[in-house]
Amino acid sequence: MVRSKVVPDNDKKELSEILKISGETINDCMQCGKCTAGCPATGGMDILPHQIIRDLQLGQVKKVIESKTIWSCASCFACASRCPRNVDLARLIEAARLLIVRKKGSDRLKPETVSELMEDKKMPQQAVVSAFRKYNK
Ligand code: SF4
Ligand code: SF4
Repeated sequence: MVRSKVVPDNDKKELSEILKISGETINDCMQCGKCTAGCPATGGMDILPHQIIRDLQLGQVKKVIESKTIWSCASCFACASRCPRNVDLARLIEAARLLIVRKKGSDRLKPETVSELMEDKKMPQQAVVSAFRKYNK
Protein backbone atom coordinates (compact mmCIF):
# COMPACT_ATOMS: atom_id res chain seq x y z
CA MET A 1 0.00 0.00 0.00
CA VAL A 2 1.36 3.44 -0.92
CA ARG A 3 0.91 6.05 1.81
CA SER A 4 0.52 9.67 0.86
CA LYS A 5 0.49 12.75 3.08
CA VAL A 6 -2.47 15.04 2.64
CA VAL A 7 -1.36 18.53 3.59
CA PRO A 8 -3.89 21.38 3.34
CA ASP A 9 -2.95 24.07 0.76
CA ASN A 10 -2.70 26.79 3.43
CA ASP A 11 -0.25 24.70 5.43
CA LYS A 12 1.80 23.96 2.29
CA LYS A 13 2.11 27.67 1.55
CA GLU A 14 3.08 28.51 5.12
CA LEU A 15 5.51 25.62 5.29
CA SER A 16 7.28 26.73 2.13
CA GLU A 17 7.45 30.26 3.57
CA ILE A 18 9.03 28.97 6.81
CA LEU A 19 11.55 26.92 4.83
CA LYS A 20 12.35 29.88 2.60
CA ILE A 21 12.88 32.30 5.50
CA SER A 22 14.93 29.83 7.55
CA GLY A 23 16.88 28.20 4.72
CA GLU A 24 16.64 24.89 6.62
CA THR A 25 16.02 21.35 5.34
CA ILE A 26 13.63 19.67 7.77
CA ASN A 27 13.88 16.26 6.16
CA ASP A 28 17.47 15.98 7.43
CA CYS A 29 16.10 15.59 10.96
CA MET A 30 16.18 11.98 12.17
CA GLN A 31 14.22 12.62 15.37
CA CYS A 32 17.08 11.73 17.69
CA GLY A 33 15.81 14.17 20.34
CA LYS A 34 19.19 15.75 21.15
CA CYS A 35 17.72 19.22 20.56
CA THR A 36 15.01 18.63 23.14
CA ALA A 37 17.47 17.11 25.63
CA GLY A 38 19.61 20.26 25.56
CA CYS A 39 16.85 22.87 25.42
CA PRO A 40 16.65 25.08 28.54
CA ALA A 41 13.14 26.32 27.76
CA THR A 42 11.09 23.10 27.50
CA GLY A 43 9.28 23.94 30.77
CA GLY A 44 7.26 26.61 28.98
CA MET A 45 6.67 24.64 25.81
CA ASP A 46 3.57 22.73 24.77
CA ILE A 47 5.35 20.98 21.88
CA LEU A 48 8.93 19.80 22.42
CA PRO A 49 11.65 21.02 20.04
CA HIS A 50 12.08 17.71 18.15
CA GLN A 51 8.29 17.46 17.88
CA ILE A 52 8.19 20.88 16.21
CA ILE A 53 10.39 19.50 13.44
CA ARG A 54 8.25 16.34 13.18
CA ASP A 55 5.08 18.40 12.91
CA LEU A 56 6.68 20.46 10.14
CA GLN A 57 7.75 17.27 8.36
CA LEU A 58 4.12 16.12 8.53
CA GLY A 59 2.91 19.48 7.24
CA GLN A 60 1.15 20.39 10.49
CA VAL A 61 2.11 24.03 10.29
CA LYS A 62 -1.02 25.41 11.94
CA LYS A 63 -0.26 23.36 15.05
CA VAL A 64 3.27 24.81 15.13
CA ILE A 65 2.33 28.45 14.62
CA GLU A 66 -0.41 28.23 17.24
CA SER A 67 1.91 26.64 19.80
CA LYS A 68 3.31 28.28 22.93
CA THR A 69 6.66 26.77 22.02
CA ILE A 70 7.57 29.28 19.33
CA TRP A 71 7.20 32.14 21.84
CA SER A 72 8.95 30.23 24.65
CA CYS A 73 12.09 29.62 22.60
CA ALA A 74 14.92 31.80 23.87
CA SER A 75 16.87 31.60 20.58
CA CYS A 76 19.86 30.28 22.51
CA PHE A 77 20.91 27.96 19.62
CA ALA A 78 21.71 25.07 22.01
CA CYS A 79 19.54 22.84 19.79
CA ALA A 80 21.40 23.84 16.64
CA SER A 81 24.80 23.26 18.23
CA ARG A 82 23.79 19.74 19.39
CA CYS A 83 22.15 18.58 16.19
CA PRO A 84 24.09 15.77 14.47
CA ARG A 85 22.30 16.55 11.19
CA ASN A 86 22.97 20.30 11.18
CA VAL A 87 19.32 21.23 11.41
CA ASP A 88 18.96 24.69 12.93
CA LEU A 89 15.70 24.54 14.86
CA ALA A 90 16.17 28.05 16.28
CA ARG A 91 16.04 29.44 12.72
CA LEU A 92 12.89 27.46 11.96
CA ILE A 93 11.22 28.80 15.09
CA GLU A 94 12.29 32.35 14.28
CA ALA A 95 10.88 31.86 10.76
CA ALA A 96 7.54 30.74 12.25
CA ARG A 97 7.49 33.85 14.43
CA LEU A 98 8.30 36.07 11.46
CA LEU A 99 5.50 34.46 9.46
CA ILE A 100 3.03 35.53 12.15
CA VAL A 101 4.51 39.00 12.51
CA ARG A 102 4.39 39.59 8.73
CA LYS A 103 0.76 38.42 8.59
CA LYS A 104 -0.27 40.93 11.20
CA GLY A 105 0.10 43.72 8.64
CA SER A 106 -1.53 46.82 10.10
CA ASP A 107 -0.73 45.67 13.64
CA ARG A 108 2.95 46.40 13.07
CA LEU A 109 4.68 48.89 15.31
CA LYS A 110 4.56 52.38 13.85
CA PRO A 111 7.17 55.13 14.45
CA GLU A 112 4.57 57.42 16.06
CA THR A 113 3.80 54.82 18.76
CA VAL A 114 7.40 54.49 19.91
CA SER A 115 7.47 57.65 22.06
CA GLU A 116 4.28 56.49 23.78
CA LEU A 117 5.90 53.15 24.61
CA MET A 118 8.94 54.90 26.03
CA GLU A 119 6.74 56.60 28.65
CA ASP A 120 6.71 53.24 30.40
CA LYS A 121 9.93 53.55 32.39
CA LYS A 122 10.06 49.80 32.90
CA MET A 123 10.23 49.17 29.15
CA PRO A 124 13.86 48.45 28.17
CA GLN A 125 14.93 50.72 25.27
CA GLN A 126 16.46 47.72 23.55
CA ALA A 127 13.07 45.94 23.51
CA VAL A 128 11.43 48.90 21.77
CA VAL A 129 14.23 49.24 19.22
CA SER A 130 14.23 45.56 18.36
CA ALA A 131 10.42 45.43 18.21
CA PHE A 132 10.46 48.43 15.88
CA ARG A 133 13.01 46.75 13.62
CA LYS A 134 11.16 43.46 13.60
CA TYR A 135 7.60 44.73 13.27
CA ASN A 136 8.41 47.45 10.78
CA LYS A 137 9.76 45.23 7.97
S1 SF4 B 1 18.92 17.13 17.23
FE1 SF4 B 1 18.67 17.48 15.03
S2 SF4 B 1 18.32 15.46 14.14
FE2 SF4 B 1 17.99 15.29 16.35
S3 SF4 B 1 15.76 15.61 16.62
FE3 SF4 B 1 16.75 17.58 16.89
S4 SF4 B 1 16.71 18.55 14.87
FE4 SF4 B 1 16.32 16.36 14.59
S1 SF4 C 1 17.01 27.88 20.50
FE1 SF4 C 1 14.96 27.60 21.41
S2 SF4 C 1 14.42 25.48 20.96
FE2 SF4 C 1 16.62 25.67 20.64
S3 SF4 C 1 17.53 25.04 22.59
FE3 SF4 C 1 17.33 27.27 22.65
S4 SF4 C 1 15.33 27.66 23.61
FE4 SF4 C 1 15.36 25.49 22.97
